[in-house]
Amino acid sequence: MTKGKLIDSLGRIHNNLRISVTDRCNIRCFYCMPDENIQFKPRNEILTFEEIVRFARVAAQQGVNKLRLTGGEPLVRAGLPKLIRQLATIPDIDDIALTTNGILLAEHVDALKRAGLRRLNISLDGLKEETFERIARRKGLDRVLQGIFAAKAAGFERTRLNAIAIRGITESEIVPLGEFARQHGLELRFIEFMPLDAEGNWSDDQVLSGEDIRQTLQEAFGPLVPTVRPDPSQPAMDYRFADGVGTIGFINPVTQPFCSDCNRLRITAEGNIRNCLFSIAEWDARKIMRCGGSDDDLVRLLHECIAAKKSGHGIDSPDFVKPERAMYQIGG
Ligand code: SAM
Ligand code: SF4
Repeated sequence: MTKGKLIDSLGRIHNNLRISVTDRCNIRCFYCMPDENIQFKPRNEILTFEEIVRFARVAAQQGVNKLRLTGGEPLVRAGLPKLIRQLATIPDIDDIALTTNGILLAEHVDALKRAGLRRLNISLDGLKEETFERIARRKGLDRVLQGIFAAKAAGFERTRLNAIAIRGITESEIVPLGEFARQHGLELRFIEFMPLDAEGNWSDDQVLSGEDIRQTLQEAFGPLVPTVRPDPSQPAMDYRFADGVGTIGFINPVTQPFCSDCNRLRITAEGNIRNCLFSIAEWDARKIMRCGGSDDDLVRLLHECIAAKKSGHGIDSPDFVKPERAMYQIGG
């Protein structure tokens, strides 16, 4: 297998692979999953750890050096530290991160750290139990908070909180979340609600823009000072609080799309490669791996997928087609 780079027709170099390890989850956020009657993929259709590692190794040969494990809820997949240990041995992979809802984090955090996990994103949409249950349709905020404190104690290189911004829900959580993040020395990012919910209820009037949140934070904490972007492909715009305590970021995919700098590709839990969250096409890597295909076949598939990447997600276009898959089936 020869080394290469995953460059699309617009010159975007793809070095960032999101790996979904499961479509299952222990809560039911309305912006991601249905509440009931969910058809999870049968276990034999989900990639094994060996298949995930093989795919990641091939992707690394094609220039991928950053991995993020996601889902569904990645911590419901048994043995995740074992997978991380295997991924950490792949030459050229220099960053492994995890996105989690935090519910199972306290019990796994030490094993994850020992396995080689460097960075953690924990989803926290608010600090009120009422907000949590309204969004997650399950209980669990206390466990998420325990998970956050356990992650802090474990001393990861970076632990970040992600809050989805939803008009009508998030407004009263903005300042408390800002205070919480500052008090505990955690980075906080607000992410605009995207049309990837399973129940098809998204509408643009539910999107609370990053700009609106920034105004609210400035009224409460004083001016926010833009920070220098270390990596132009990072989707977030980060700011420092004027008193020097803490940073806050905004990922505004709906109101300020960042597709022109996108460096991400994804593989779903059952092994389909996607070049965009909003892609309506997928490239089946599992078939290659289970039918005796070679690593070169996987390389060809990867390049085919990247070559077909569109310039942008087109959410604001009248021709926008919402992908059939919801967020939990893609891997956020
Ligand atoms: N279960 C884990 C979690 O919630 O962190 C990982 C998977 S989840 C799909 C990954 C991220 O996507 C989370 O931060 C979640 O809040 C976010 N997300 C889910 N649905 C979304 C949507 N419709 N719009 C924006 N972000 C969304
Ligand atoms: Fe589960 Fe994460 Fe989706 Fe919420 S956002 S339902 S925690 S996968």
